[in-house]
Amino acid sequence: MRHTGQVSQSEPACPDQASIEVDLDAIVANVATLRGRVQRPLMAVVKADAYGHGLVPVARAALAGGADALGVTTLAEAHALRDAGITARIMSWLHSPGTAYAPAIERDIELGLSRLAALDAAAEAPGVARVHLKVDTGLSRAGVTSGDWPEFVERAAKYAADGQVEVVGIWSHFACADSPGHPSVRAQCDRLVDAADVAREMGLGGFDLHIANSAATLTDPGSWFDMVRPGIAIYGLDPMGDDAAEHGLRPAMRARAATMMVKDVPAGTGVSYGHTYTTATDTRLALVPVGYADGIPRAASNAGLVRIGERKYQVAGRICMDQFVLDVGDDDVRPGDDVIIFGDPAAGDPPVEAWARSAGTINYEIVSRIGGRFARHYTGALADELGLAG
Ligand SMILES: *Cc1c(COP(=O)(O)O)cnc(C)c1O
Repeated sequence: MRHTGQVSQSEPACPDQASIEVDLDAIVANVATLRGRVQRPLMAVVKADAYGHGLVPVARAALAGGADALGVTTLAEAHALRDAGITARIMSWLHSPGTAYAPAIERDIELGLSRLAALDAAAEAPGVARVHLKVDTGLSRAGVTSGDWPEFVERAAKYAADGQVEVVGIWSHFACADSPGHPSVRAQCDRLVDAADVAREMGLGGFDLHIANSAATLTDPGSWFDMVRPGIAIYGLDPMGDDAAEHGLRPAMRARAATMMVKDVPAGTGVSYGHTYTTATDTRLALVPVGYADGIPRAASNAGLVRIGERKYQVAGRICMDQFVLDVGDDDVRPGDDVIIFGDPAAGDPPVEAWARSAGTINYEIVSRIGGRFARHYTGALADELGLAG
């Protein structure tokens, strides 16, 4: 009866081979901690499917923790939040040329704008666009250069006077806030203040200034201005790659998989593609059924660290597309045993930062790329309340 697409009652469902647990209570607590520290509005950044944690559940958790607004890149993400019934302030800041702004304006989605043509399009769309004008203070990514800024804010002031836009923010983004004390941090703050002065000279007022990402939120009160925009910190991870517990934050994501098979092999056995690992002694190999297609970085071959029970094991040999191997010595590891790939170091789990270091990348990239066959589950009291647990 397979062709019906129905799974018959007598057929047991496939158990999860691999899962990601997202503790929404950790996100609530992290946001509350940060919001309490800054004592001003906080925009929780939930772009990229909430850094791999799940857009809508994380948005709800962030709001429960006291976030005042949500930040996303694309309008599709913003609309997904509205579709879920979220009425909080939402800002979206990455729009392709030719974007039609009317649907976003109608749903009260605030627009981060970096180009004159985008400002024109937002002003010409029906309704009053609530906009945040982005100045490039030194990242050289999005944002209007200081040379083009006077013309940009002059145009915005004209649209504001005509009732076509409301300028609610002037904002920017740091290049080096994860190197506390880096001279560019102060320079960027100064340029943001200068840009606001130019905007006031053009007749604009009543806008908020914001530039602080997680690193600046954690280390640089002088950069907080009227609002902060932390992303990685709300997930309980440190933007500098250190232990976030030092900032009172707790990682929300745990990745785990069940060993698929275990077998004994003699000394001198080459393991996985290219035989980049050879067993030193007679030993036992355990197969973990996730790989780079699921977001486990291949660059962490022979390096990534996992936990089974109380013990830590390093990946043996290359990480493959759907699986990797552990050399567990003569430990009593069995098929179906729980392998913690990363999680909360306070609970003895390998930190995601160890994987990031092994792969030559940052914690952001590991969590935001986890996917593939990992099934996502939500845990904690809020997940129960939202009916998401299980
Ligand atoms: C991603 C992003 C943030 C959050 O950065 P974190 O380092 O994760 O805190 C804030 N603002 C903008 C514009 C971003 O793109």
